[in-house]
Amino acid sequence: MLLDGKRLLITGVLDPRSIAFHVARCAQEQGAEVVLTSLGRARRLTERAAGRLPTTPDVLELDVTSEDDIAAVAKDLEGRWGRLDGLLHAVAFAPGSCLGGGFLDAPWEDVSTALQISTYSLASLGRGFAPLLEAADGSSVVGLDFDASLAWPGYDWMGVAKAGLEATSRYLARDLGPRGVRVNLVAAGPLRTIAATSIDGFQHFEPVWDERAPLGWDVRDPEPVARTVCALLSDWMPAVTGEIVHVDGGAHAIGAGVPRAVDDGASAVAGA
Ligand code: NAD
Repeated sequence: MLLDGKRLLITGVLDPRSIAFHVARCAQEQGAEVVLTSLGRARRLTERAAGRLPTTPDVLELDVTSEDDIAAVAKDLEGRWGRLDGLLHAVAFAPGSCLGGGFLDAPWEDVSTALQISTYSLASLGRGFAPLLEAADGSSVVGLDFDASLAWPGYDWMGVAKAGLEATSRYLARDLGPRGVRVNLVAAGPLRTIAATSIDGFQHFEPVWDERAPLGWDVRDPEPVARTVCALLSDWMPAVTGEIVHVDGGAHAIGAGVPRAVDDGASAVAGA
């Protein structure tokens, strides 16, 4: 199996809709041993979701803004496994003022919270787990991105946070590569998770994918993203780092509507 013997730390499972939940399921199905993390009051939900995985994993406390939490999880994994083959960063948060319009009015205090949790945390986790990742024979850090090359309705400061995440992943790839650690992002198309549907404006993303994705896109199907993350966590992409893999049905590559159907020899353009 793709991930036989791999030991993985997976952040960001909130409920069974979470992208990270599907990565954890796919990874277990592919032979990996998994530990999840959660924080505070979300932990009960995470533990309930953990019980719905093929094998119920342990859930460790990890607020990505806490260096103490990161150190405690690293210590636990050192005793448990002595190494870490892979890490999924599936964490994002922004206060309400940073999303859904009002871009110009969001105060720095709120913006800094969004950037600390959604962007800087990739570097924090990379730093905190580097010794364990280095102890593995080639390891992989994967983060979840939403294409930050364009401005989106309502995404506002989270879009800025994702642009920062893209840059952070490249610098982390630069600094951890010599230690045998790959760092990549998966830029996912829109999926109906708690984080996504709480964004006022998310509904405006969906028609863009209907119109542009040559392969089509289902906002209820996280499987393509989960499989790609598992591929990046495996040994099958050993020379790929600092990369952003778009798992979006191809929408990022297409400027306007895609021919959908052939009707009497003439193609119809969806959304035209
Ligand atoms: P989700 O709500 O299921 O997951 C978000 C996670 O972030 C939750 O588990 C939450 O507990 C965690 N989190 C928030 N603050 C934290 C903190 N301080 N410390 C540790 N964890 C914290 O939603 P999701 O859509 O599965 O989001 C996972 C990742 O995927 C995010 O980075 C998100 O931006 C990204 N993403 C989502 C979509 C989409 O359309 N759903 C598309 C592209 C990228």
